[in-house]
Amino acid sequence: MAVVGTALLVWQGVTVGVGRADPGLLTPQEQAYVQDLGPVPLCVDPDWPPFERINGQGEYEGIAADLLRLISERSGVLFTLVPTHDWEASIEASKSGRCKVLGFLNQTPARESWLLFTAPLFSDANVFITREEHFFIADPADLGNETIVFPVGTAMEERVRRDYPNLVIRNCASEMEAMHQVSERKADMTLRSLIVAAWTIKTEGLFNLKIAGKLPDYANLLRCGVSRDLPELRDILDKAIRTITPQERERIVNRHVSINVQTGMDFGLIVKIVAVFVVAAGVGVAWNMRLKKLYAELELRSQTDTLTRLPNRTRIDALLRQEVERAGRYDRSFAIILFDVDHFKAVNDVHGHLMGDKVLIRLARAAKAAVRASDTVGRWGGEEFLVLCPETEADAAAHLADRLRLAVKAQIYETGTVVTISAGVAAFVAGDSADTLLTRADTALYRAKSAGRDRAASA
Ligand code: GH3
Ligand code: MG
Ligand code: MG
Repeated sequence: MAVVGTALLVWQGVTVGVGRADPGLLTPQEQAYVQDLGPVPLCVDPDWPPFERINGQGEYEGIAADLLRLISERSGVLFTLVPTHDWEASIEASKSGRCKVLGFLNQTPARESWLLFTAPLFSDANVFITREEHFFIADPADLGNETIVFPVGTAMEERVRRDYPNLVIRNCASEMEAMHQVSERKADMTLRSLIVAAWTIKTEGLFNLKIAGKLPDYANLLRCGVSRDLPELRDILDKAIRTITPQERERIVNRHVSINVQTGMDFGLIVKIVAVFVVAAGVGVAWNMRLKKLYAELELRSQTDTLTRLPNRTRIDALLRQEVERAGRYDRSFAIILFDVDHFKAVNDVHGHLMGDKVLIRLARAAKAAVRASDTVGRWGGEEFLVLCPETEADAAAHLADRLRLAVKAQIYETGTVVTISAGVAAFVAGDSADTLLTRADTALYRAKSAGRDRAASA
Protein backbone atom coordinates (compact mmCIF):
# COMPACT_ATOMS: atom_id res chain seq x y z
CA MET A 1 0.00 0.00 0.00
CA ALA A 2 1.45 3.32 -1.00
CA VAL A 3 2.05 5.89 1.67
CA VAL A 4 0.86 9.21 0.42
CA GLY A 5 2.50 12.31 1.75
CA THR A 6 3.89 12.86 5.23
CA ALA A 7 2.11 15.50 7.23
CA LEU A 8 4.16 17.73 9.45
CA LEU A 9 1.97 19.52 11.90
CA VAL A 10 3.40 22.89 12.74
CA TRP A 11 2.19 25.15 15.52
CA GLN A 12 3.85 28.54 15.36
CA GLY A 13 6.92 27.14 13.70
CA VAL A 14 7.28 24.29 16.18
CA THR A 15 6.72 20.79 14.88
CA VAL A 16 4.60 18.99 17.40
CA GLY A 17 3.43 15.96 15.49
CA VAL A 18 4.36 13.90 12.49
CA GLY A 19 1.60 12.01 10.80
CA ARG A 20 1.01 10.18 7.59
CA ALA A 21 -2.01 11.02 5.50
CA ASP A 22 -4.47 8.16 5.41
CA PRO A 23 -3.71 6.56 2.02
CA GLY A 24 -7.33 5.66 1.19
CA LEU A 25 -8.97 8.90 2.20
CA LEU A 26 -8.19 11.39 -0.56
CA THR A 27 -8.32 11.07 -4.33
CA PRO A 28 -5.02 11.54 -6.22
CA GLN A 29 -6.20 15.01 -7.27
CA GLU A 30 -6.92 15.94 -3.67
CA GLN A 31 -3.53 14.64 -2.57
CA ALA A 32 -1.85 16.78 -5.22
CA TYR A 33 -3.90 19.79 -4.10
CA VAL A 34 -2.76 19.33 -0.49
CA GLN A 35 0.88 19.07 -1.61
CA ASP A 36 0.61 22.26 -3.68
CA LEU A 37 -1.20 24.17 -0.96
CA GLY A 38 1.58 23.87 1.60
CA PRO A 39 1.05 24.95 5.22
CA VAL A 40 -2.31 26.64 5.83
CA PRO A 41 -2.33 29.67 8.15
CA LEU A 42 -4.63 28.85 11.08
CA CYS A 43 -6.21 31.24 13.60
CA VAL A 44 -7.71 30.13 16.89
CA ASP A 45 -9.18 31.58 20.05
CA PRO A 46 -6.10 32.06 22.25
CA ASP A 47 -8.18 32.01 25.43
CA TRP A 48 -11.04 29.52 25.36
CA PRO A 49 -10.05 26.64 27.61
CA PRO A 50 -10.60 23.75 27.66
CA PHE A 51 -11.51 23.98 23.95
CA GLU A 52 -8.46 25.83 22.78
CA ARG A 53 -5.82 28.24 23.92
CA ILE A 54 -2.30 29.39 23.20
CA ASN A 55 -0.27 28.60 26.31
CA GLY A 56 2.64 30.49 27.83
CA GLN A 57 5.07 28.74 25.50
CA GLY A 58 3.09 29.84 22.44
CA GLU A 59 1.74 26.33 21.85
CA TYR A 60 -1.76 25.62 20.69
CA GLU A 61 -3.51 23.20 23.05
CA GLY A 62 -6.93 21.93 24.09
CA ILE A 63 -9.73 19.78 22.74
CA ALA A 64 -9.79 21.61 19.41
CA ALA A 65 -5.99 21.40 19.05
CA ASP A 66 -6.11 17.62 19.48
CA LEU A 67 -9.00 17.27 17.04
CA LEU A 68 -7.16 19.39 14.45
CA ARG A 69 -4.07 17.27 15.01
CA LEU A 70 -6.11 14.18 14.07
CA ILE A 71 -7.54 15.96 11.03
CA SER A 72 -4.07 17.03 9.95
CA GLU A 73 -2.71 13.53 10.35
CA ARG A 74 -5.49 11.97 8.30
CA SER A 75 -5.73 14.54 5.53
CA GLY A 76 -2.05 15.46 5.23
CA VAL A 77 -3.02 19.15 5.48
CA LEU A 78 -0.42 21.16 7.38
CA PHE A 79 -1.46 24.03 9.61
CA THR A 80 0.71 26.93 10.73
CA LEU A 81 -0.54 28.81 13.74
CA VAL A 82 -0.94 32.57 13.33
CA PRO A 83 -1.01 33.76 16.94
CA THR A 84 -3.40 36.55 17.96
CA HIS A 85 -4.17 38.30 21.24
CA ASP A 86 -7.86 37.52 21.32
CA TRP A 87 -10.74 36.02 19.38
CA GLU A 88 -11.73 39.34 17.84
CA ALA A 89 -8.25 39.66 16.36
CA SER A 90 -8.54 36.12 14.98
CA ILE A 91 -11.83 37.01 13.30
CA GLU A 92 -10.20 40.11 11.80
CA ALA A 93 -7.21 38.10 10.56
CA SER A 94 -9.58 35.61 8.99
CA LYS A 95 -11.63 38.33 7.28
CA SER A 96 -8.51 40.01 5.91
CA GLY A 97 -7.15 36.69 4.55
CA ARG A 98 -4.13 36.48 6.86
CA CYS A 99 -5.63 33.23 8.16
CA LYS A 100 -7.17 30.74 5.81
CA VAL A 101 -8.77 28.56 8.48
CA LEU A 102 -10.47 29.29 11.80
CA GLY A 103 -10.13 26.04 13.66
CA PHE A 104 -13.15 25.71 15.90
CA LEU A 105 -16.26 27.87 15.68
CA ASN A 106 -20.03 27.93 15.29
CA GLN A 107 -21.55 28.58 11.88
CA THR A 108 -23.57 31.80 11.72
CA PRO A 109 -25.13 33.76 8.83
CA ALA A 110 -22.71 36.65 9.45
CA ARG A 111 -19.69 34.35 9.28
CA GLU A 112 -20.94 32.68 6.11
CA SER A 113 -20.22 35.91 4.26
CA TRP A 114 -16.48 35.08 4.27
CA LEU A 115 -16.22 31.45 5.40
CA LEU A 116 -17.18 27.99 4.19
CA PHE A 117 -17.93 25.56 6.99
CA THR A 118 -17.02 21.92 7.43
CA ALA A 119 -19.17 19.34 9.18
CA PRO A 120 -19.05 19.69 12.99
CA LEU A 121 -15.90 18.44 14.68
CA PHE A 122 -17.62 18.57 18.01
CA SER A 123 -20.93 19.46 19.63
CA ASP A 124 -22.08 20.42 23.11
CA ALA A 125 -25.02 22.14 24.76
CA ASN A 126 -25.27 25.83 25.53
CA VAL A 127 -26.56 26.54 29.01
CA PHE A 128 -27.68 29.57 31.00
CA ILE A 129 -25.41 30.24 33.94
CA THR A 130 -26.84 32.30 36.76
CA ARG A 131 -26.25 32.71 40.44
CA GLU A 132 -27.74 30.08 42.72
CA GLU A 133 -30.85 32.06 43.63
CA HIS A 134 -32.09 32.47 40.07
CA PHE A 135 -35.15 30.42 39.07
CA PHE A 136 -35.09 27.87 36.28
CA ILE A 137 -35.20 29.45 32.82
CA ALA A 138 -37.83 27.71 30.73
CA ASP A 139 -38.30 30.46 28.16
CA PRO A 140 -35.86 33.40 27.96
CA ALA A 141 -38.62 35.53 26.40
CA ASP A 142 -40.28 35.63 29.84
CA LEU A 143 -37.22 37.00 31.59
CA GLY A 144 -37.86 40.73 31.47
CA ASN A 145 -34.91 43.10 31.13
CA GLU A 146 -32.25 40.96 32.73
CA THR A 147 -28.64 41.49 31.74
CA ILE A 148 -26.75 38.81 29.89
CA VAL A 149 -23.01 39.03 29.38
CA PHE A 150 -21.03 37.62 26.43
CA PRO A 151 -17.37 37.68 25.49
CA VAL A 152 -16.99 39.91 22.41
CA GLY A 153 -17.82 38.38 19.03
CA THR A 154 -19.58 35.17 20.02
CA ALA A 155 -22.17 33.33 17.93
CA MET A 156 -24.47 33.04 20.95
CA GLU A 157 -24.61 36.82 21.24
CA GLU A 158 -25.66 37.06 17.58
CA ARG A 159 -28.50 34.61 18.18
CA VAL A 160 -29.71 36.02 21.49
CA ARG A 161 -29.71 39.55 20.03
CA ARG A 162 -31.97 38.32 17.25
CA ASP A 163 -34.26 35.97 19.22
CA TYR A 164 -34.56 37.64 22.64
CA PRO A 165 -34.63 41.44 22.33
CA ASN A 166 -35.94 41.64 25.91
CA LEU A 167 -32.50 40.75 27.30
CA VAL A 168 -29.95 43.51 27.86
CA ILE A 169 -26.67 42.42 26.28
CA ARG A 170 -23.30 43.36 27.79
CA ASN A 171 -19.85 42.46 26.52
CA CYS A 172 -16.69 41.54 28.29
CA ALA A 173 -13.19 40.48 27.29
CA SER A 174 -13.19 36.74 27.96
CA GLU A 175 -15.12 33.64 28.80
CA MET A 176 -13.75 33.64 32.31
CA GLU A 177 -14.67 37.29 32.86
CA ALA A 178 -18.26 36.55 31.80
CA MET A 179 -18.56 33.91 34.52
CA HIS A 180 -16.92 36.18 37.09
CA GLN A 181 -19.32 39.03 36.23
CA VAL A 182 -22.29 36.76 36.92
CA SER A 183 -20.75 35.43 40.12
CA GLU A 184 -20.05 39.00 41.31
CA ARG A 185 -23.57 40.27 40.48
CA LYS A 186 -22.39 42.55 37.66
CA ALA A 187 -24.65 40.65 35.26
CA ASP A 188 -27.63 38.34 35.76
CA MET A 189 -26.53 35.55 33.45
CA THR A 190 -24.45 34.32 30.60
CA LEU A 191 -25.13 31.66 27.98
CA ARG A 192 -22.13 29.42 27.41
CA SER A 193 -20.99 25.96 26.46
CA LEU A 194 -21.64 23.33 29.09
CA ILE A 195 -18.08 22.05 28.82
CA VAL A 196 -16.55 25.48 29.26
CA ALA A 197 -18.96 26.28 32.10
CA ALA A 198 -18.12 23.11 34.01
CA TRP A 199 -14.41 23.69 33.50
CA THR A 200 -14.47 27.36 34.54
CA ILE A 201 -16.71 26.83 37.57
CA LYS A 202 -14.29 24.20 38.80
CA THR A 203 -10.99 25.90 38.08
CA GLU A 204 -12.14 29.32 39.28
CA GLY A 205 -14.08 27.98 42.28
CA LEU A 206 -17.23 29.92 41.34
CA PHE A 207 -19.55 27.75 43.37
CA ASN A 208 -22.30 30.37 43.72
CA LEU A 209 -23.08 29.75 40.05
CA LYS A 210 -25.53 27.25 38.70
CA ILE A 211 -26.78 26.01 35.39
CA ALA A 212 -30.29 27.42 35.20
CA GLY A 213 -31.50 25.96 31.94
CA LYS A 214 -30.64 25.44 28.34
CA LEU A 215 -32.00 26.32 24.96
CA PRO A 216 -32.67 23.01 23.24
CA ASP A 217 -31.83 24.18 19.74
CA TYR A 218 -28.82 26.21 20.85
CA ALA A 219 -26.19 23.48 20.71
CA ASN A 220 -22.65 24.49 19.87
CA LEU A 221 -21.81 22.72 16.63
CA LEU A 222 -18.16 23.52 16.31
CA ARG A 223 -16.69 23.40 12.82
CA CYS A 224 -13.69 24.54 10.85
CA GLY A 225 -14.26 27.76 8.94
CA VAL A 226 -12.36 27.87 5.66
CA SER A 227 -11.81 30.93 3.43
CA ARG A 228 -14.44 31.06 0.69
CA ASP A 229 -11.71 30.89 -1.98
CA LEU A 230 -10.64 27.40 -0.84
CA PRO A 231 -13.68 25.11 -1.36
CA GLU A 232 -11.41 22.11 -2.14
CA LEU A 233 -9.71 22.50 1.24
CA ARG A 234 -13.08 22.54 2.97
CA ASP A 235 -14.06 19.27 1.25
CA ILE A 236 -10.76 17.62 2.19
CA LEU A 237 -11.05 18.68 5.84
CA ASP A 238 -14.63 17.42 5.80
CA LYS A 239 -13.47 13.99 4.71
CA ALA A 240 -10.98 13.82 7.56
CA ILE A 241 -13.53 15.10 10.12
CA ARG A 242 -15.93 12.31 9.20
CA THR A 243 -13.32 9.70 10.15
CA ILE A 244 -13.21 10.86 13.78
CA THR A 245 -15.06 8.35 15.94
CA PRO A 246 -17.11 9.09 19.10
CA GLN A 247 -14.53 7.11 21.10
CA GLU A 248 -11.72 9.35 19.83
CA ARG A 249 -13.70 12.44 20.78
CA GLU A 250 -14.41 11.07 24.21
CA ARG A 251 -10.74 10.27 24.83
CA ILE A 252 -9.75 13.78 23.81
CA VAL A 253 -12.38 15.41 26.05
CA ASN A 254 -11.37 13.29 29.02
CA ARG A 255 -7.76 14.27 28.53
CA HIS A 256 -8.62 17.96 28.91
CA VAL A 257 -11.43 17.91 31.45
CA SER A 258 -10.52 15.85 34.45
CA ILE A 259 -12.45 16.80 37.53
CA ASN A 260 -11.67 15.57 41.01
CA VAL A 261 -14.73 15.49 43.22
CA GLN A 262 -13.34 15.42 46.73
CA THR A 263 -15.32 13.41 49.21
CA GLY A 264 -16.42 15.29 52.27
CA MET A 265 -16.86 18.53 50.33
CA ASP A 266 -20.31 19.29 49.10
CA PHE A 267 -20.59 21.85 46.36
CA GLY A 268 -24.12 20.65 45.76
CA LEU A 269 -25.63 20.69 42.36
CA ILE A 270 -22.64 22.13 40.56
CA VAL A 271 -20.47 19.20 41.56
CA LYS A 272 -23.21 16.87 40.43
CA ILE A 273 -23.36 18.63 37.13
CA VAL A 274 -19.62 18.44 36.74
CA ALA A 275 -19.59 14.78 37.75
CA VAL A 276 -22.39 13.94 35.35
CA PHE A 277 -20.56 15.85 32.71
CA VAL A 278 -17.32 13.96 33.18
CA VAL A 279 -18.98 10.58 33.18
CA ALA A 280 -21.02 11.35 30.13
CA ALA A 281 -18.85 13.75 28.13
CA GLY A 282 -18.95 12.97 24.48
CA VAL A 283 -21.16 9.91 24.77
CA GLY A 284 -24.10 11.28 22.76
CA VAL A 285 -27.19 9.41 23.85
CA ALA A 286 -26.20 8.63 27.43
CA TRP A 287 -25.19 12.25 27.83
CA ASN A 288 -28.55 13.51 26.65
CA MET A 289 -30.44 11.22 28.97
CA ARG A 290 -28.42 12.33 31.96
CA LEU A 291 -28.86 15.92 30.96
CA LYS A 292 -32.62 15.49 30.74
CA LYS A 293 -32.75 14.04 34.24
CA LEU A 294 -30.58 16.83 35.50
CA TYR A 295 -32.80 19.47 33.98
CA ALA A 296 -35.88 17.81 35.47
CA GLU A 297 -34.20 17.99 38.86
CA LEU A 298 -33.17 21.59 38.30
CA GLU A 299 -36.67 22.50 37.23
CA LEU A 300 -38.22 20.89 40.29
CA ARG A 301 -35.77 22.66 42.59
CA SER A 302 -36.40 25.98 40.95
CA GLN A 303 -40.14 25.65 41.59
CA THR A 304 -39.95 24.57 45.21
CA ASP A 305 -39.75 26.88 48.19
CA THR A 306 -36.55 26.01 50.03
CA LEU A 307 -37.94 26.63 53.52
CA THR A 308 -41.34 24.91 53.44
CA ARG A 309 -40.80 22.57 50.46
CA LEU A 310 -44.15 23.77 49.08
CA PRO A 311 -44.50 25.00 45.49
CA ASN A 312 -42.98 28.48 45.40
CA ARG A 313 -44.52 31.69 44.13
CA THR A 314 -43.52 31.07 40.50
CA ARG A 315 -45.00 27.59 40.54
CA ILE A 316 -48.24 28.32 42.40
CA ASP A 317 -48.84 31.37 40.23
CA ALA A 318 -48.42 29.28 37.08
CA LEU A 319 -50.80 26.62 38.45
CA LEU A 320 -53.33 29.31 39.39
CA ARG A 321 -53.30 30.63 35.84
CA GLN A 322 -53.77 27.14 34.44
CA GLU A 323 -56.74 26.46 36.73
CA VAL A 324 -58.40 29.79 35.91
CA GLU A 325 -58.01 29.01 32.22
CA ARG A 326 -59.47 25.53 32.70
CA ALA A 327 -62.40 26.74 34.83
CA GLY A 328 -63.24 29.39 32.23
CA ARG A 329 -62.95 27.14 29.20
CA TYR A 330 -64.83 24.11 30.56
CA ASP A 331 -67.17 25.99 32.88
CA ARG A 332 -65.86 24.20 35.97
CA SER A 333 -66.02 25.42 39.55
CA PHE A 334 -62.78 26.56 41.16
CA ALA A 335 -61.92 28.43 44.36
CA ILE A 336 -58.85 29.80 46.07
CA ILE A 337 -57.95 30.46 49.68
CA LEU A 338 -55.35 33.09 50.50
CA PHE A 339 -54.22 32.90 54.11
CA ASP A 340 -51.77 34.86 56.23
CA VAL A 341 -50.30 34.10 59.65
CA ASP A 342 -51.61 36.39 62.37
CA HIS A 343 -49.15 38.66 64.18
CA PHE A 344 -46.22 36.75 62.78
CA LYS A 345 -43.89 39.67 63.27
CA ALA A 346 -44.35 39.18 67.00
CA VAL A 347 -43.25 35.52 66.70
CA ASN A 348 -39.98 36.68 65.15
CA ASP A 349 -39.58 39.53 67.62
CA VAL A 350 -40.12 37.37 70.69
CA HIS A 351 -38.62 34.03 69.65
CA GLY A 352 -36.18 35.00 66.92
CA HIS A 353 -36.18 34.53 63.17
CA LEU A 354 -34.99 30.91 63.28
CA MET A 355 -37.91 29.96 65.48
CA GLY A 356 -40.16 31.87 63.07
CA ASP A 357 -38.83 29.67 60.29
CA LYS A 358 -39.64 26.54 62.27
CA VAL A 359 -43.19 27.76 62.81
CA LEU A 360 -43.58 28.30 59.06
CA ILE A 361 -42.28 24.80 58.28
CA ARG A 362 -44.67 23.12 60.72
CA LEU A 363 -47.58 25.30 59.68
CA ALA A 364 -46.98 24.52 55.99
CA ARG A 365 -46.94 20.80 56.72
CA ALA A 366 -50.21 21.09 58.69
CA ALA A 367 -51.87 23.06 55.91
CA LYS A 368 -50.85 20.52 53.31
CA ALA A 369 -52.21 17.68 55.44
CA ALA A 370 -55.51 19.50 55.98
CA VAL A 371 -56.46 19.96 52.32
CA ARG A 372 -57.53 17.31 49.81
CA ALA A 373 -55.11 15.57 47.51
CA SER A 374 -56.56 17.50 44.57
CA ASP A 375 -55.86 20.86 46.26
CA THR A 376 -52.47 22.55 46.12
CA VAL A 377 -50.93 24.71 48.86
CA GLY A 378 -48.13 27.03 47.78
CA ARG A 379 -46.06 29.71 49.48
CA TRP A 380 -47.25 33.01 48.10
CA GLY A 381 -44.55 35.00 49.92
CA GLY A 382 -43.37 35.62 53.51
CA GLU A 383 -46.06 34.25 55.82
CA GLU A 384 -48.78 34.18 53.16
CA PHE A 385 -49.97 31.02 51.45
CA LEU A 386 -52.30 30.28 48.56
CA VAL A 387 -54.49 27.18 48.25
CA LEU A 388 -55.92 26.17 44.87
CA CYS A 389 -59.14 24.14 45.08
CA PRO A 390 -60.24 22.76 41.69
CA GLU A 391 -63.82 21.52 41.33
CA THR A 392 -64.83 23.41 44.46
CA GLU A 393 -67.87 25.68 44.97
CA ALA A 394 -67.82 28.77 47.20
CA ASP A 395 -69.53 27.04 50.16
CA ALA A 396 -67.20 24.05 50.14
CA ALA A 397 -64.19 26.36 49.90
CA ALA A 398 -65.37 28.37 52.93
CA HIS A 399 -65.72 25.09 54.79
CA LEU A 400 -62.23 24.02 53.77
CA ALA A 401 -60.78 27.38 54.85
CA ASP A 402 -62.19 26.89 58.32
CA ARG A 403 -60.85 23.35 58.53
CA LEU A 404 -57.46 24.70 57.51
CA ARG A 405 -57.61 27.40 60.16
CA LEU A 406 -58.43 24.89 62.90
CA ALA A 407 -55.73 22.47 61.74
CA VAL A 408 -53.06 25.19 61.95
CA LYS A 409 -54.32 26.32 65.33
CA ALA A 410 -54.27 22.76 66.71
CA GLN A 411 -50.56 22.29 65.99
CA ILE A 412 -48.06 22.36 68.83
CA TYR A 413 -45.27 24.75 67.80
CA GLU A 414 -41.70 24.99 69.07
CA THR A 415 -42.56 28.42 70.48
CA GLY A 416 -45.08 26.86 72.86
CA THR A 417 -47.64 29.40 71.65
CA VAL A 418 -50.83 29.11 69.63
CA VAL A 419 -50.46 30.22 66.04
CA THR A 420 -53.50 31.37 64.10
CA ILE A 421 -54.21 32.39 60.54
CA SER A 422 -56.73 34.56 58.75
CA ALA A 423 -58.06 33.46 55.38
CA GLY A 424 -59.80 35.04 52.39
CA VAL A 425 -61.86 32.79 50.11
CA ALA A 426 -62.85 33.58 46.53
CA ALA A 427 -64.70 31.38 44.04
CA PHE A 428 -64.24 31.65 40.29
CA VAL A 429 -67.01 33.35 38.31
CA ALA A 430 -67.27 33.59 34.53
CA GLY A 431 -65.01 36.33 33.19
CA ASP A 432 -62.54 36.12 36.08
CA SER A 433 -58.81 36.33 35.43
CA ALA A 434 -56.19 35.10 37.89
CA ASP A 435 -55.72 38.71 38.97
CA THR A 436 -59.40 39.53 39.60
CA LEU A 437 -59.80 36.31 41.55
CA LEU A 438 -56.72 37.08 43.65
CA THR A 439 -57.89 40.61 44.32
CA ARG A 440 -61.20 39.33 45.71
CA ALA A 441 -59.42 36.77 47.92
CA ASP A 442 -57.10 39.51 49.17
CA THR A 443 -60.01 41.81 50.01
CA ALA A 444 -61.73 38.98 51.88
CA LEU A 445 -58.48 38.28 53.78
CA TYR A 446 -58.26 41.92 54.75
CA ARG A 447 -61.83 41.74 56.11
CA ALA A 448 -60.95 38.63 58.15
CA LYS A 449 -57.98 40.52 59.64
CA SER A 450 -60.03 43.64 60.43
CA ALA A 451 -62.78 41.56 62.03
CA GLY A 452 -60.32 40.29 64.65
CA ARG A 453 -58.12 37.64 62.88
CA ASP A 454 -58.24 33.84 63.46
CA ARG A 455 -61.11 33.53 60.99
CA ALA A 456 -62.01 33.06 57.35
CA ALA A 457 -64.06 35.45 55.22
CA SER A 458 -65.53 34.90 51.78
CA ALA A 459 -65.60 37.35 48.92
P1 GH3 B 1 -50.87 40.47 60.59
O1 GH3 B 1 -51.67 39.67 61.54
O2 GH3 B 1 -51.47 41.76 60.28
O3 GH3 B 1 -50.60 39.66 59.33
O4 GH3 B 1 -49.49 40.74 61.30
P2 GH3 B 1 -48.07 40.22 60.91
O5 GH3 B 1 -47.14 40.55 62.04
O6 GH3 B 1 -48.13 38.78 60.56
O7 GH3 B 1 -47.81 41.02 59.59
P3 GH3 B 1 -46.57 41.71 58.97
O8 GH3 B 1 -46.81 41.66 57.49
O9 GH3 B 1 -46.35 43.04 59.59
O10 GH3 B 1 -45.33 40.81 59.32
C1 GH3 B 1 -45.05 39.64 58.65
C2 GH3 B 1 -43.73 39.15 59.20
O11 GH3 B 1 -43.39 37.89 58.64
C3 GH3 B 1 -42.60 40.08 58.92
C4 GH3 B 1 -41.54 39.21 58.32
O12 GH3 B 1 -40.27 39.45 58.83
C5 GH3 B 1 -41.99 37.82 58.64
N1 GH3 B 1 -41.54 36.85 57.70
C6 GH3 B 1 -41.78 36.80 56.37
N2 GH3 B 1 -41.15 35.73 55.81
C7 GH3 B 1 -40.49 35.08 56.81
C8 GH3 B 1 -39.67 33.92 56.89
O13 GH3 B 1 -39.38 33.24 55.89
N3 GH3 B 1 -39.17 33.56 58.09
C9 GH3 B 1 -39.46 34.27 59.20
N4 GH3 B 1 -38.94 33.86 60.37
N5 GH3 B 1 -40.21 35.38 59.16
C10 GH3 B 1 -40.74 35.78 58.00
MG1 MG C 1 -48.46 39.21 55.54
MG1 MG D 1 -49.27 38.15 58.92
